[in-house]
Amino acid sequence: MPQHDPYIVVPRDAIDKIAASALSGGALVLRRVPADNMYVVRTVETAKDMRLPADIPGEYVALRSGDPHHAAQWIRVAANDAQIHHLFLSRRPQAFIEFAKFKEMVPGVSDPGNGLGIVITHDPDLPPELVEAGALEFAGWAVRRSGVHPIHIEVEPEVIGLEQLTGKWPIEQLAANSVMVVGCGSIGSAAAEALAGFGVGRVELLDPDRFLWHNMLRHALGTESVGRYKVAAMKDHLARRWPEQTVVAHQLDVVADAHYARPIVDRVDLVLCAADGIAPRRVVSHLARRANKPAILACVLDNGSIGEVIRLRPTPRFGCLLCLRQHLAAQGAMDAEADQELDYGTGRVHQPMAAVPPDLRQVGTFAAKVAVATLLESLHGDHTQRIPGEHAVIGLRPTGDLAAPFNVGEVGDVRWSSIPGPRPSCATCSAE
Ligand SMILES: [Zn+2]
Repeated sequence: MPQHDPYIVVPRDAIDKIAASALSGGALVLRRVPADNMYVVRTVETAKDMRLPADIPGEYVALRSGDPHHAAQWIRVAANDAQIHHLFLSRRPQAFIEFAKFKEMVPGVSDPGNGLGIVITHDPDLPPELVEAGALEFAGWAVRRSGVHPIHIEVEPEVIGLEQLTGKWPIEQLAANSVMVVGCGSIGSAAAEALAGFGVGRVELLDPDRFLWHNMLRHALGTESVGRYKVAAMKDHLARRWPEQTVVAHQLDVVADAHYARPIVDRVDLVLCAADGIAPRRVVSHLARRANKPAILACVLDNGSIGEVIRLRPTPRFGCLLCLRQHLAAQGAMDAEADQELDYGTGRVHQPMAAVPPDLRQVGTFAAKVAVATLLESLHGDHTQRIPGEHAVIGLRPTGDLAAPFNVGEVGDVRWSSIPGPRPSCATCSAE
């Protein structure tokens, strides 16, 4: 298909109008968008002298611009001939069919004169084996007296959005699941977006803060949200991009408002904590354990050099966050959380602010992946979703001189380890 030939976009509504028409052919009006070398079907002649506009939803801004005056035709063809020719010619660049022969094959085509005619042929009875071979029910043609070329038409599909993954990804199972995201900063906003993309049906966002200028560099939100509460702005952001998902916004602080957070933990399947600081993480660890729910904790440490994702599962095999930290301390490993606490509230530059935006996004996406894998394995018995351990350390710009398990050596390196069982003296774990 020559480069200079037009590219035609056909809204679903136009396809439906052509398919339902009792005519054997009719006029089309295309909207031309010169900057994108694109034509969009705007009106369809559906009955003698009746032209109906094709509905294009308002969000398809580019498809609604341009000048609607380029005349074209749609023609219903019989016996598959035109569509088979279209298939063969499409596979042979530079190939064309003489206008006289095309006119025999597609009766009703108008003489383009010295200009360009655009025709969409429709074969409603195309046999399945031809469809399998690549023939199209709706095919496009650039018609010139010097020859007729196949052109590409892009038909708006019947199914868009997550539903396109049906049969390829367990969207139905995940649509029934819910995750509470604690902290809607840089990592939390990336995690919430990723959870939506994985198809988690309900996300409950918890964050007390407003979205301000200093957040913007590292956040999923942009200028339009400055000044708003992060949870409310994220709810709107996700609703635009993932309308199939339910988002609930809670303008709450998980530490100060733990009493209000508890019933939310009770009703979700999993808690993902992306909040800065030691106190929110410990509260989430405790609340999730008491509610018998898994929790995923995500952060960046050591001035943004490594990412850490911890999975806490409420079983006798695995302890809580405090049990893990005690264990690391006993091993002489770096206690990254203690570092965090030093900075927290001291007015010094907070450590995550040293991290680079895509690194934070990677950690948020990774945490969402661990969350979804945990849901699929534990709730749906999908053992292809088993992950390698409970504690992942991710090299972002590793410094190489940290104690295990933090000594990731290379950028992009992920080290998995397990976590110890509950300590007998642990107040969170021992009440079980
Ligand atoms: Zn514990």
